[in-house]
Amino acid sequence: MAEHMTPDEFRRAGHAVVDWIADYWATLGQRPVTSQDAPGAVAARLPAGPPEKGEPIEAVLADLDTLITPGLTHWQHPGFFGYFPANTSGPSVLGDLVSSGLGVQGMLWATGPACTELETAMLDWLADLLDLPARFRCAAAGGGVIQDSASSATLVATLAALHRASGGRWRDGGIDRRYRAYTSTQGHSSIEKAARIAGLGTDGVRPVEVDPRTLAMRPEALRAAIEADLAAGVVPAIVVATVGTTSTTAIDPLPEIGAICAEFGVWLHVDAAYAGAAAVCPELRWSHAGLEHADSYCFDPHKWLLTGFDCDAFWVADRGELIEALTVLPEYLRNAATESGAVIDYRDWQVPLGRRFRALKLWFVLRWYGVEGLRAHIRSGVALAARFADRVRADDRFELAAAHPFALVCFRLRGDDEVNAELLARVNATGRVHLTHTRVEGRYTLRLAVGSPQTTEEHVDEAWGLLTDAAHTLLPH
Ligand SMILES: *Cc1c(COP(=O)(O)O)cnc(C)c1O
Repeated sequence: MAEHMTPDEFRRAGHAVVDWIADYWATLGQRPVTSQDAPGAVAARLPAGPPEKGEPIEAVLADLDTLITPGLTHWQHPGFFGYFPANTSGPSVLGDLVSSGLGVQGMLWATGPACTELETAMLDWLADLLDLPARFRCAAAGGGVIQDSASSATLVATLAALHRASGGRWRDGGIDRRYRAYTSTQGHSSIEKAARIAGLGTDGVRPVEVDPRTLAMRPEALRAAIEADLAAGVVPAIVVATVGTTSTTAIDPLPEIGAICAEFGVWLHVDAAYAGAAAVCPELRWSHAGLEHADSYCFDPHKWLLTGFDCDAFWVADRGELIEALTVLPEYLRNAATESGAVIDYRDWQVPLGRRFRALKLWFVLRWYGVEGLRAHIRSGVALAARFADRVRADDRFELAAAHPFALVCFRLRGDDEVNAELLARVNATGRVHLTHTRVEGRYTLRLAVGSPQTTEEHVDEAWGLLTDAAHTLLPH
């Protein structure tokens, strides 16, 4: 046991692990969605240190069942409706397993050519699948890359935007004056984090007002903010527009925002972390109208496209600017392929140097499901959300709090914040479903996001049944 695992031992243990995952998926619906453990309970179940002598994998698998899974929120559970989905799938797990087995570092083309070239091809496939503007394709001046998350995509876009806004001075001299990022009041928290990391600070992000009816950015407010900043000597660097905000899936008006960015020469990044996956369906592509104005765009296949975390697909219209902003070439990485200029070195497209072979899981997913299978998954989520929203609409005690263009429904009881918080607590306490909340125009609002591949009408109807049961005891009648 103190020896390295031989290929034959790996084969045996590997089959057992795959069986364990298959059993986990098959029994998911019978588990409580969230853990009943108190803080510290999982840690208290663990031994104080590693074993002196190695142990067989069977012993670890047994402990997974007793120590670990009771302390989990089961994100793949058919009753998981919280946050946004972070779904995975069989083909994704298998692709990731191959990536782990290969253990390739794809930092340079030269350190594993297939790792780079499959990724470029997959991002071009995805660009076709979503019908993204031609300029994002590698055959044009753009190109796509896998980032770990939409947060990293926003950071990298911010850095490239600063490079452009400073005429290249940011790269060598750092921040030489005040630069600003703009996003709506509904923009994701990663935008503020990116601004801090980039050296702009939290004050370097200007929140732009939204239309209270649609919760989408008001273009006139963006223009006014940019003009006021220019007058004050602040340089507008980047606008982050959102297709499908985290709180309610509001959609910023890209055509108007794009025109303003073009007029003032400001980088436009479009964050479609969750909702981008919807564009695999032609009937949902209206949500991406105006994307041809964007300098960069991202969405997370790891949210709603059956590819396990981490997989954010990020595209730029001009890869030259991005590479110029981020490239550093030390002697120990010099090689003939890089010097020839004929290859992509993805280390120049991201913050870390090293990178995993993540294109494999995308390749497995795209081939297993095909375009038809992916569209069916998105359509099923949209239809289940619509079914739930119909129930809400038909019940006088409830109201919808926002539009539901995708598979998220925001709703509440016609009552105060306390009653709605109590409603959420009660349905979640059943262990059958897990919903989360947000605030819409200051009011406590429940969110039901559909996206797990195992979720069916039965699960959505069960959630509705639990909500109406709880409403019955909460409201005077
Ligand atoms: C989820 C989300 C993010 C962050 O996604 P990660 O990939 O987890 O970093 C960013 N923007 C929006 C709009 C999101 O919904």
